[in-house]
Amino acid sequence: MIKIADKVNLVHERIANACQLSGRKCDEVQLLAVSKTRSPEEVAEAYQQGCRDFGENYLQDALGKISATALEHCRWHFIGKLQSNKTRAVAEHFDWMHTVDRLKIAQRLSEQRPATLPPLNICLQVNISGEESKSGIAPAELISLAEKISALSGVKLRGLMVIPAASNEPEQQRSAFANSYQLYRQLQQRFDGIDTLSMGMSGDLEAAIAEGSTIVRVGTDIFGPRAV
Ligand SMILES: *Cc1c(COP(=O)(O)O)cnc(C)c1O
Repeated sequence: MIKIADKVNLVHERIANACQLSGRKCDEVQLLAVSKTRSPEEVAEAYQQGCRDFGENYLQDALGKISATALEHCRWHFIGKLQSNKTRAVAEHFDWMHTVDRLKIAQRLSEQRPATLPPLNICLQVNISGEESKSGIAPAELISLAEKISALSGVKLRGLMVIPAASNEPEQQRSAFANSYQLYRQLQQRFDGIDTLSMGMSGDLEAAIAEGSTIVRVGTDIFGPRAV
């Protein structure tokens, strides 16, 4: 079995290669290690190898891990579905929230963000392939939601997050990512401080980087296949 440390290195190499191929600087793309369902020990191993950003989908699982690992100088990103009655824990314990798709969630996060912490960084989730089963706003709703959210003081709008329809075809992957990049550019033109395009996972990070991703969210290729 390949160790987590070696897999982290391999993913960094893939990111570096993809950046080079598309003429981008290596430090333009951040690695978010998706640690949902993984143990505190596995998280610690990735941390030892230099990972400082961790992504979690399940609140209880995440909160236990955040306190069990007590890692310094790292950032926790919430990337799962969130019910509006669960916003407080995210506002109090996370640095980023990638899956905002309703004003109400953003308002609650903003109100519940402790004054002792900097504003919570948020990305709006866009349902870029228009799938019934996926969360996220329609592309046409983006600007009006962003306008309302950018007025809130406890959150800071940083950009977009997308999960395109699964595909093994690089061409199809790239076209969904290219559409996402266009939306990201529109957002940048209208609002200050937009610097984050969260797209690309284990299976498609090369295509995402070629189309302008700034954060890739990688679980399987760092920690191995998930049990569930
Ligand atoms: C689980 C998950 C990932 C990681 O997916 P892998 O294919 O395991 O790399 C990325 N983003 C989101 C939103 C996820 O839920």
